[in-house]
Amino acid sequence: MLDTNIKTQLAAYLEKLQQPIELVATPDGSDASRRMRELLADIAALSPKVSVREDGQAERRPSFSVGRPGEAPRIHFAGLPMGHEFTSLILALLQSGGHPPKIDAALVEQIRGIRGRFRFETFISLSCHNCPDVVQALNLMAVLNPGVEATMVDGALFQEEVEARGIMAVPAVFVNGEPFGQGRMTLEEILAKLDTGAAAKAAEALDAKAPFDVLVVGGGPAGSAAAIYAARKGIRTGVVAERFGGQVLDTLAIENFISVKRTEGPQLAAALESHVREYGVDIMPAQRAQALVPGDGLHEVRLAGGATLKAKTVILAPGARWREMNVPGEKEYKAKGVCFCPHCDGPLFRGKRVAVIGGGNSGVEAAIDLAGIVAHVTLLEFDSKLRADAVLQEKLASLSNVTVIKSAQTTEVSGDGQKVTGLAYTDRNTGESHRIDLEGIFVQIGLLPNTDWLKGTLNLSRFGEIEVDARGETSLPGVFAAGDATTVPYKQIVIALGEGAKAGLSAFDHLIRSPAPEKRTSVVDQIA
Ligand code: FAD
Repeated sequence: MLDTNIKTQLAAYLEKLQQPIELVATPDGSDASRRMRELLADIAALSPKVSVREDGQAERRPSFSVGRPGEAPRIHFAGLPMGHEFTSLILALLQSGGHPPKIDAALVEQIRGIRGRFRFETFISLSCHNCPDVVQALNLMAVLNPGVEATMVDGALFQEEVEARGIMAVPAVFVNGEPFGQGRMTLEEILAKLDTGAAAKAAEALDAKAPFDVLVVGGGPAGSAAAIYAARKGIRTGVVAERFGGQVLDTLAIENFISVKRTEGPQLAAALESHVREYGVDIMPAQRAQALVPGDGLHEVRLAGGATLKAKTVILAPGARWREMNVPGEKEYKAKGVCFCPHCDGPLFRGKRVAVIGGGNSGVEAAIDLAGIVAHVTLLEFDSKLRADAVLQEKLASLSNVTVIKSAQTTEVSGDGQKVTGLAYTDRNTGESHRIDLEGIFVQIGLLPNTDWLKGTLNLSRFGEIEVDARGETSLPGVFAAGDATTVPYKQIVIALGEGAKAGLSAFDHLIRSPAPEKRTSVVDQIA
């Protein structure tokens, strides 16, 4: 099942096991079951601390559990955790075997302190790069707290259940049989959702923080670079981010990160975070800024959780988000057929009919990708021509199960109350309305800057982008901005990194030229 290279790597990981672990299989006669048995046998052969038995009684077959001998296992995999989930399996093995997780001690305490019984089920697809974070967070909670059980379910293998539960986007998480959440979630977000007291405690701790020299809002490439450049000057730097990694987390292959020929989004996001942590930056994840209050000397950033952070300089790097069509039915059927991530949710539409809205690079790429999975793709473009690169258009034209409709304005998403059943569009040349029957709609019409919360506070362009000068400074002195949220053209990772670095340096330059309000000493005096 596993090739020699993977076995060698896995054997090295399994040396980290501090205690024996047991894999308990619940097989059936299927081919997937045969491969599961091979996988478990391969793993057991690599370490004397791993044993396998095949008398499991799990409700889903084939499946297997990971736990300690003599204890009821709390981590379950229904289907094979290969593809993006292979890392989830490795972590489950190591953490069940006593290898310490790489999270703050405060988070470990928070997980241990959860009271009650929580049986989580996470429906995933093996090609979903957002799913492993959720699976790994829940598995870790199961390792640390005996009241938590976590099951990963491969939606492609348990299609009947996916249909019965009306799942149309992954990851889809259920707790004790009820819907809990959908889409990427961090450990902190899951904990905040479970334990309401935790959010109030976190807000209290944030409120008590001393003012920062530089406070960065956003943990994407721009925010990460800004934080590193600021922290390397030895000044007190913090990053507040809703989702550390930003859009990079939604990116599958990255082939233009200069000097790295190919990498994957989650891998780059993890590298960004570990680089930022290297400099002792105070990272405040899973926190949303909702207001910037400029001050004379100290600016305030107010967070949705109720806390207020203070800083001498602020760097805004809140990036951008998927643009929506804003047509009737779109919101109602989000995650019920209306999707934004073809890589994640494409496999759930195997054999079905879908539409892709948008004929730019991302729309055409999505259509090509989906054409290999679904029965039929209709690509709708508002303009009279596609805007994607010629090479992508040629590839698209070669596919027999793709129809391209140009000059088409989508006017409505329709459904049966549970899921999408079709869409309506107007032919912009004739004014005629048409309907297409389908099961899925992938919206790929660009990005919007995450700057709604800044309206009226500083100068924004007519597209909502933060206006910056050549040094990255905004219309507010001491407030800088970088990345996709700004007027700087070309929304790309290396550009966001460069602009973030520039904003970090500009913030430092601003600090050394400003006397500190109370002590009348400059930041240079404080460092020296
Ligand atoms: P983002 O990456 O959007 O990060 C924004 C950060 O701010 C996040 O941490 C977010 O949680 C946080 N945030 C937002 N609002 C708030 C708030 N109110 N409070 C607190 N935090 C907040 N670029 C390439 O160079 N190569 C590629 O191959 C590539 N592929 C892509 C594929 C996809 C599917 C997408 C969506 C983008 C791709 N890009 C690619 C573009 C690239 O990802 C962006 O240009 C880059 O991530 C922008 O970085 P950023 O830091 O400005 O913003």
